[in-house]
Amino acid sequence: MAKKKESDFCAFCGRERKDAAILVKGEIVSICDSCVMQAAAIVNEELAHGKSNKSVNKGFSLPANFSPVKIKEFLDLYIVGQDEAKKVMAVAVYNHYKRLNVESNDDVEIEKSNVLFIGPTGTGKTLMAKTLAKFLRVPFAIVDATSFTEAGYVGEDVEGMLSRLLQSCDYNIESAQTGIIYIDEIDKIARKSENPSITRDVSGEGVQQALLKILEGADVNVPPAGGRKHPEQQFLKLNTVNILFICGGAFDGLEKIINKRLNTSVIGFKAQSDQANTVLDDVLHLVNHHDLKKFGIIPELLGRLPVLAYLEKLTRKDLIRILTEPKNALISQYKKLFAIEGVTLEFITEALEEIAQQAIDNKLGARGLRSICEKVLTEPMFHGVESKELLITKDFVLSKVQSQSVSISA
Ligand code: ADP
Repeated sequence: MAKKKESDFCAFCGRERKDAAILVKGEIVSICDSCVMQAAAIVNEELAHGKSNKSVNKGFSLPANFSPVKIKEFLDLYIVGQDEAKKVMAVAVYNHYKRLNVESNDDVEIEKSNVLFIGPTGTGKTLMAKTLAKFLRVPFAIVDATSFTEAGYVGEDVEGMLSRLLQSCDYNIESAQTGIIYIDEIDKIARKSENPSITRDVSGEGVQQALLKILEGADVNVPPAGGRKHPEQQFLKLNTVNILFICGGAFDGLEKIINKRLNTSVIGFKAQSDQANTVLDDVLHLVNHHDLKKFGIIPELLGRLPVLAYLEKLTRKDLIRILTEPKNALISQYKKLFAIEGVTLEFITEALEEIAQQAIDNKLGARGLRSICEKVLTEPMFHGVESKELLITKDFVLSKVQSQSVSISA
């Protein structure tokens, strides 16, 4: 009987060509479809599991001249002001990714530096996280803490955030394991009182508890499509040790807590002092972990967010710079839109000041600038401009903003 050729059967399971749906031929041996699938599952498992650190180190390459100064210089191109927050962020990110690139061969293990951003809405918290991911060229996902609930309750499981990260890089596990996740509205999952609640708080403290393991770094079973986990589902295993988590929130009401602490600390040696009853508006930069605990963030979660960065309220001057200076600035975008129609668009300084003032009045920070510009320019964009130049004045801005009965929203 003629001897079977090596390439006529699977070199792994011995299945013959007629028994396999697909037999992939190599130069010498072949492999069947079922063994290919099993091998792929093993490779994925290995990457996500114990050998992940090794593969991560190999798979991740830092941008040229990587240093905190370079990171800040890049952030400066897109984000106006917030110098202190940029510096804190640059150092945290630099240390985080440096940690990924060193082989741990002694007892010293550098810990993760997850970041907590505190600052009013529209000051650039999300933009900062997004810009960082762009600089580092790593997968990035933005999730909203309010969409999660404790496992077993209606809502999304916290593991869903990892699905989002995987989706952003076409399910490349190795790459996702070095990504960045921005968790927005973290202040909205504060527990209702400073003491642990007797009743279940499934969208507050429950979510904070569920976040602990993920933020610390663990092997997590991730439902590929997100949502609620169920027993029959196939999971992907993802290791979160090298994922950088940045949490952000406005923390409304935190000023009161800080003020109370400051005033209390004055009492004792200067009880009669006027200072004891001073209520300062601008105290957020004095925030510490104790204030955040009082706000309702559990100590265990705070422990996993060691880097605190405070983003300042934007001034009118900042808002004007945001309109014109960053790469991709709003005014440059509108100028380009009009230029396509052959029209030169110009804003006089007072017009820009008025747009910035409107954004301040609406308390939306820089987030409100876009909708104000839309209101100002909708008419000329709709009807077109007859001359070759369109000059926007303060009166023009006021007439357009005041003529709109609908309120401006982000
Ligand atoms: P939040 O602090 O609420 O996360 P965002 O980062 O989402 O605010 O900001 C909303 C928008 O406002 C951004 O997309 C960006 O266009 C603009 N913006 C906010 N802050 C800044 C800033 N400091 N520099 C430049 N643009 C900013």
